[in-house]
Amino acid sequence: MFAKVIKDECIGCGLCEQICPEVFSMDDDGTAVAIAEEIPSECEGCAEEAAESCPTNAIEIE
Ligand code: SF4
Repeated sequence: MFAKVIKDECIGCGLCEQICPEVFSMDDDGTAVAIAEEIPSECEGCAEEAAESCPTNAIEIE
């Protein structure tokens, strides 16, 4: 599985980092970034939860 943050849609709320810090981190520009593009298997659950919780649907999981 891969995670990607669509920067143009991210409002920088920080929720994804709170839910799944192994995969998402806040970048210098105030938006989130996927620090582990290929999601470790033990983090797939929280990565999906972060994507579902994102208020602007800025997270893509493939
Ligand atoms: S939860 Fe969504 S809007 Fe909030 S920081 Fe993460 S990607 Fe951006």
